Amino acid sequence: MPQREAANSGCGIVVRQGSRLEAFFAGRVLLRPGFCAGRDSTSRGKMLKSKTFLKKTRAGGVMKIVREHYLRDDIGCGAPGCTACGGAHGGPALEPRPQDPASSLWPRPHYLLPDTNVLLHQIDVLEDPAIRNVIVLQTVLQEVRNRSAPVYKRIRDVTNNQEKHFYTFTNEHHRETYVEQEQGENANDRNDRAIRVAAKWYNEHLKKMSAENQLQVIFITNDRKNKEKAVEEGIPAFTCEEYVKSLTANPELIDRLACLSEEGKEIESGKIIFSEHLPLSKLQQGIKSGIYLQGTFRASRENYLEATVWIHGDTEENKEIILQGLKHLNRAVHEDIVAVELFPKSQWVAPSSVVLQDEGQNEDDVEKEEERECMLKTAVNEKMLKPTGRVVGIIKRNWRPYCGMLSKSDIKESRRHLFTPADRRIPRIRIETRQASTLEGRRIIVAIDGWPRNSRYPNGHFVKNLGDVGEKETETEVLLLEHDVPHQPFSQAVLSFLPKMPWSITEKDMKNREDLRHLCVCSVDPPGCTDIDDALHCRELKNGNLEVGVHIADVSHFIRPGNALDQESARRGTTVYLCEKRIDMVPELLSSNLCSLRCNVDRLAFSCIWEMNHNAEILKTRFTKSVINSKASLTYAEAQMRIDSATMNDDITISLRGLNKLAKILKKRRIENGALTLSSPEVRFHMDSETHDPIDLQTKELRETNSMVEEFMLLANISVAKKIHEEFSEHALLRKHPAPPPSNYEILVKAAKSKNLDIKTDTAKSLAESLDRAESPAFPYLNTLLRILATRCMMQAVYFCSGMDNDFHHYGLASPIYTHFTSPIRRYADIIVHRLLAVAIGADCTYPELTDKHKLADICKNLNFRHKMAQYAQRASVAFHTQLFFKSKGIVSEEAYILFVRKNAIVVLIPKYGLEGTVFFEEKDKPKPHLIYDDEIPSLQIEGIVFHVFDKVKVKIMLDSSNLQHQKIRMALVEPQIPGISIPIEPSNADLNEPGRKKRKFEK
Ligand SMILES: [Zn+2]
Repeated sequence: MPQREAANSGCGIVVRQGSRLEAFFAGRVLLRPGFCAGRDSTSRGKMLKSKTFLKKTRAGGVMKIVREHYLRDDIGCGAPGCTACGGAHGGPALEPRPQDPASSLWPRPHYLLPDTNVLLHQIDVLEDPAIRNVIVLQTVLQEVRNRSAPVYKRIRDVTNNQEKHFYTFTNEHHRETYVEQEQGENANDRNDRAIRVAAKWYNEHLKKMSAENQLQVIFITNDRKNKEKAVEEGIPAFTCEEYVKSLTANPELIDRLACLSEEGKEIESGKIIFSEHLPLSKLQQGIKSGIYLQGTFRASRENYLEATVWIHGDTEENKEIILQGLKHLNRAVHEDIVAVELFPKSQWVAPSSVVLQDEGQNEDDVEKEEERECMLKTAVNEKMLKPTGRVVGIIKRNWRPYCGMLSKSDIKESRRHLFTPADRRIPRIRIETRQASTLEGRRIIVAIDGWPRNSRYPNGHFVKNLGDVGEKETETEVLLLEHDVPHQPFSQAVLSFLPKMPWSITEKDMKNREDLRHLCVCSVDPPGCTDIDDALHCRELKNGNLEVGVHIADVSHFIRPGNALDQESARRGTTVYLCEKRIDMVPELLSSNLCSLRCNVDRLAFSCIWEMNHNAEILKTRFTKSVINSKASLTYAEAQMRIDSATMNDDITISLRGLNKLAKILKKRRIENGALTLSSPEVRFHMDSETHDPIDLQTKELRETNSMVEEFMLLANISVAKKIHEEFSEHALLRKHPAPPPSNYEILVKAAKSKNLDIKTDTAKSLAESLDRAESPAFPYLNTLLRILATRCMMQAVYFCSGMDNDFHHYGLASPIYTHFTSPIRRYADIIVHRLLAVAIGADCTYPELTDKHKLADICKNLNFRHKMAQYAQRASVAFHTQLFFKSKGIVSEEAYILFVRKNAIVVLIPKYGLEGTVFFEEKDKPKPHLIYDDEIPSLQIEGIVFHVFDKVKVKIMLDSSNLQHQKIRMALVEPQIPGISIPIEPSNADLNEPGRKKRKFEK
């Protein structure tokens, strides 16, 4: 292991095997391979000294690393035309005569040199097009890299942007700017000094330029002491705020300043609302001794006064802790890593089931909040109580820039406004801006800067204006940003790894590859499919058995491990399908052309070929890289037509019939083995891209051919899973679907029971069977509702590394092992699986990361995240198009079924549109109705009328644009009629069109 590291690192690093010492972490490493000043440093530079580090290895041992630090005298200052050093060496450089921005503090041409904290906290200012000609010191960059990966990435991106003229100066390797840590000086002070030394050097160095080219470097720091020292040393220095405010031609930049209060200064005025956050050292002690628990803070989407903390670690006990009330949430923000104190059992509570949205306008009224908090407390039976606690400190903030809208202050001329994030789990953020009128009605991005103890809301600053709310492009951008979907065009670096066109198969491509072009292969897909991942064939062998082949696009032939194309595909993880847009995982040349298994062209494939008997029993399985030539690209309908045709008997049709026959047997067997057919009708709102008309809740019958293709894909995935796990027991990439804990089914079982139906949930098989039996002749839609509810009880299927887990079972498919092999064009997991399989059969060579289970686990983690986000983005896209639809359609009344009852609301499903929504029974400024909630049944009683799950109601659907912050579909009860609650039945347009409809009786 150490030897390999030595071989990889280069750059003057010597690694020696260390003894098993007590492990400790050895401070910061000065030299990283990425910062190596040049390949020829040994010949030009001079060795300064060796630094020895002890590094803990994964196996628990300790490794000694000796790094030799080289200094050079040929590093340019980055100013082109500099006579003293010749200026920059290629790459991005400073402008020789920086003209703007005009600073009233420093009217002469200048470069900026920010310190680490300015880079970390004021990155939004630095990214502004107005800010150019910035010197980024290596010392600063390294500190940023250690402290914030996202900011580090952003600063690298800015540096790569030619127009910004940012220059990275490797001061740590410059003979005249390198400083050694002095006795008694801590690392921070040493770095501050190094930065000042570099700033001073620059100013001396630039003096050597001609008189008319006089340039100076301005040091930007928010650290008062550091600034004082710099001024003493003759370096012009300003705080970021001073400098930005001096840019009189760019007043909008002030908005982008992070508002940072100096430590301790935050309690200037106002009542203290929150208790202090304990320092990290105390938190760590507390966690060690068990007083506090560490976990991830998850804010509730439905209730801004409630959150859960998911405790890290593998103890099943106390996995989830409930927090209720502003004070106990104590300024934690969704996704932060926090430390919580657990309350004694006597103070435990149950989740509140209340829907509460923070809709106050600029109010700091905490008392009102406390009143609302009382609503959270419910009398419930003992076993519903969950561990409850409060946040005592923040271990790591996970803030990111948030999309949302400005809620302009009611106070005239006010600069302070509240920003409402699009994500309900994020609190509202107070920002200062002068452009409130311009920003009203726009989607904007805001970053959080801090959250003082006396403030109801965190403080932040404006980052970017995305455009008008409701505008299709703006909204798409928002949902992509909010779901962290990488959607920038592919960079030149990525595209450079694509094959050059015109492309054709060469002799080299044929190495380790079988020629299967003679086989009668065809593909079956939805109409208009351009990224064809899979094709099939079936033929009878001489011995009377059948040969079935699944041929998958050989994407891993084109995407080689580790290059920019591979890294970008790995990062994206999946293709994202939105209503009117597809965000590809791989560039179009591959997705829609070279990898797409279109008919009548030669295409590279990875084939899984079985020999089966006529009872669909597998006799032999083999895998091979291949070249195929598909004979037909069919749609499901075309394939079905061929199978059903009495007259067609060509090779393609015979092949399809063989496949179809086997698929039916395979499916039957799979279901007998307990696979779940929760093919609950897809409750999705399909939009016609041109008219925005919804196509009804999947009423169209699925054809046999859909299921035919699916059966063989499942079989291929299972066969491949077995093979790669046989070959790589420790690092196969697999997919599992955990069985849900019994408690997940409670809601389904209770709901069914209220309709006198018995749902068994002990095994997937019994669940499937009891769902099949759950029919009500008087209520045909009930079965669909039960299946929808059952789907909600399921766990997420996830990718995992076989060496990191014991439980491989796929619950939904009732398969002991499973993976993804069949869609490498749109899923990165399949690319890794292809690589593993290729190595297993000797068709391709391996590489170190492929057999590193920790690396593989990291890949799985990202893929699981990306898949989840892709799903959410899809849903958000559907929701937005739903709004567009109802905007044009106006107010309509529709039949709906209750899916869930809550304490003050019911959640309903409208089958006609596959649309789900919440009907609230409490409205602001209206008298509160008398509500009785019973969690056991579950039911909600309002003024004498009882609502159960699955009850049929009638609701009015309208687009509510009154609150621009959250334009939303609002639903109100029409039937049953409850005086003061329901909307009176009045002949609306929709009702007039269908006069019979409103007379229909409310069905219990
Ligand atoms: Zn120079």
